[in-house]
Amino acid sequence: MHKIDIELVEMTLDVMKYVIGRVSATEHQIGKPKRSEELKTTVGETVTAKGVGGEYAFNLWKQHLASANVPVDHPRNLAFVPASPTKAAIMFDLITSASSIHGAYWMEGAGGIFCENEAMEWIVSLTGLPEGAFGVFTSGGTAANLSALVTAREHWRENPEFKREKGLIITSIGAHSSIKAMAKVADVDIVLVDSEEHLTGDALQETIATLTEHQRKCLFAVVATGGTTNAGIIDDLESIARVCEDQNLWFHVDAAYGGGALVADSVRHLFNGIEKADSITIDPHKWMFSPYDCGAVIYKDMELAKNAHSQQGSYLEIFKDEGAHGFNPTDYQIQLTRRVRGLPLWFSLATHGTDRYKEAVERGLELAQIAGRLIEAHPDLELVREPSLSCVLYRRIGWEPEDYTHWTYENHEKGFALVTPTKWKNGDTYETCSRFCFINPDTTEKDIVMILESME
Ligand SMILES: *Cc1c(COP(=O)(O)O)cnc(C)c1O
Repeated sequence: MHKIDIELVEMTLDVMKYVIGRVSATEHQIGKPKRSEELKTTVGETVTAKGVGGEYAFNLWKQHLASANVPVDHPRNLAFVPASPTKAAIMFDLITSASSIHGAYWMEGAGGIFCENEAMEWIVSLTGLPEGAFGVFTSGGTAANLSALVTAREHWRENPEFKREKGLIITSIGAHSSIKAMAKVADVDIVLVDSEEHLTGDALQETIATLTEHQRKCLFAVVATGGTTNAGIIDDLESIARVCEDQNLWFHVDAAYGGGALVADSVRHLFNGIEKADSITIDPHKWMFSPYDCGAVIYKDMELAKNAHSQQGSYLEIFKDEGAHGFNPTDYQIQLTRRVRGLPLWFSLATHGTDRYKEAVERGLELAQIAGRLIEAHPDLELVREPSLSCVLYRRIGWEPEDYTHWTYENHEKGFALVTPTKWKNGDTYETCSRFCFINPDTTEKDIVMILESME
């Protein structure tokens, strides 16, 4: 028998108490950042030769550091794409940490990877991709987009004619910043269709027609967005898929934010055509109520991803031997060692059932419609465009850009709400406006009313 380490038991109880308090609190502090110098002055030296002790460090966290974060699950945090992990998922995130699973190869992570795959099967079923399609959990949408882009490019380069060419992709200005950033990482050129409204096959075709002969030769993929981050706009996936099929282009759908809405019957038809994608990005840490971080990349043909990403090394051969009887997540995306970050999602899905996910996503969509009606009924407010998915862009009549900034800071300073301004491209000009993005099903109509009232 091991001697029970009293200090360890106490620390474990303290941590559990804190976690229970955090997940069961009905009203959280919204928190705000502080300058690094200020935090340093407050907490002093913490990493020392002898250590300051767990209890002391934990108290520093509770008293001074936790409140310097802005939790994304606050019901009045409607900025960027917020999140709202389920308590079940948070609890199993702790289990994931405690279990020390190296999630790269089945040989070491069979139990965890099995659970991940159960959750993945459900996600893939939402897309309508054909038999054989599957996916793998990544650190987020950025890593998923990069993994898909590299798979597409490597597949294209299998043709000797393109072996030494730098590839080119087309997307729209509504695409997420990570597409441009990852094109840089993959050393791929990018052409942007200059409209933030939904991309269509015709607009894509017109853009292709403007390419030089060499550009056309190097064009290998199109990235459509299944719910733009700024406005929730879903590109016309059906017509884009047709162009890609005709022109032999890889069709990637970035649904990092919008992908959760595939479960919602009220909007599922807007995604028609997604079942023709070669690859899809969906972030469970956005609208599938998983804790950070958890993204997913899905492929129609898993073999192509394996050709692009499978790592070779003498120290790895053993994994591919006995472990090869199972699924090796490392083979399909950019990471080797990986957390089994789909495990919390699996536990939450198993706990609640997929119907609860449907209801929670529908609630986010409904909140956007409610906000739209409240804005239309308000004499000083106007919608910039109709709510799309759970995004609402609206203006306060008479406000200049600095008024929005000031209002955001003021509400944040008070610990009341975090609602940030954005820009919307209207013809040749960009208008600054306010933006809601709803994820948390616990946000209430009253929350929205209070936020709108604060604009008077
Ligand atoms: C959030 C988002 C991303 C980036 O995902 P991360 O998880 O932040 O890396 C990519 N694409 C879209 C459409 C997004 O909304």
